[in-house]
Amino acid sequence: MVLRENKRGLYCPDGDFFIDPWQPVPRALITHAHGDHARPGSDAYLCTPGTAALLRRRLGPDTVIQTIAYGERRRFSAIDVSFHPAGHVLGSAQIRLEGSGGVWVVAGDYKRAGDPTCAPFEPIRCDTFITESTFGLPIYRWDDTGVIMQDILAWWSANREAGKTSVIFCYTLGKAQRLLAELGRLTDRRVFVHGMMPGMIDAYREAGIDLPAVTPVIEKAGGARKVSFAGELVLAPLSARGTPWMRRLGTLSDAFASGLMRVRGVRRQRAYDRGFVISDHADWPALLQTISETGARRVLATHGHAESLARHLRTLGLDTGTIRTAWEGEPSGD
Ligand SMILES: [Zn+2]
Ligand SMILES: [Zn+2]
Repeated sequence: MVLRENKRGLYCPDGDFFIDPWQPVPRALITHAHGDHARPGSDAYLCTPGTAALLRRRLGPDTVIQTIAYGERRRFSAIDVSFHPAGHVLGSAQIRLEGSGGVWVVAGDYKRAGDPTCAPFEPIRCDTFITESTFGLPIYRWDDTGVIMQDILAWWSANREAGKTSVIFCYTLGKAQRLLAELGRLTDRRVFVHGMMPGMIDAYREAGIDLPAVTPVIEKAGGARKVSFAGELVLAPLSARGTPWMRRLGTLSDAFASGLMRVRGVRRQRAYDRGFVISDHADWPALLQTISETGARRVLATHGHAESLARHLRTLGLDTGTIRTAWEGEPSGD
């Protein structure tokens, strides 16, 4: 076994490192900067330059971070390590390990849909593939991103005509930047963002990703003339929903941009006015296509619907298993 689980995460004994560990470890190889993959407290981190730009902001400037370019090889004892694009968010990588136990690839989170803010996923041949399964059920199928963007523009226009503010809740790392880049291709209209958003947007820009200008919705000093956001579009983190910050936005229509919005029951339960099904994870067909392209004989599923995916793969004659995750919350960047 090139990798095995222990209480701190996925450990590679022959290379003496962990991948996306749940607890602090001496050496952590990190697939991407989302909080359920990159936890604080490890002595040293290895990741791509894009992930490093985001990690420094999340974990602080004193964090020891070494970088490795996509495709570059590095040796840890008996293991050859390389990172390859995962298409999930800026800097996201699959980690390929080669040793006496064969070739293993840890995909981290990934998607196959195009994304102007990160390098596209590259299928890597391997013996054992560790795949995410966040949306590992046949109901999860994504429409073309262009169709969703037109839906967003039409909804924004209708709200503008009704004098309402349009608010899209989305993840601060990944989804927000992808939406901005896609909007920038379609409209010159200014987009507003919650005050928690500019940090990660700036990190993307520093990493060379071209994003349209945004205007933060900030607290005006007392006595300043009240700004109206009627007709405007605002991107906000989920944590802002229901907070007093929302009041300044006036009459609004709200939406959630996530693969979770594929499920009607979830839409109803969360009571958003609209759900835009746009995800940074692979949908069911993309999971199956990707697994097939790796040529792997053994597939281990983790995150979300791991059992469902593993059961299906078993019917295709693959050797399968699941890997638990210590993460109990919702997947980030869904
Ligand atoms: Zn992620
Ligand atoms: Zn994840």
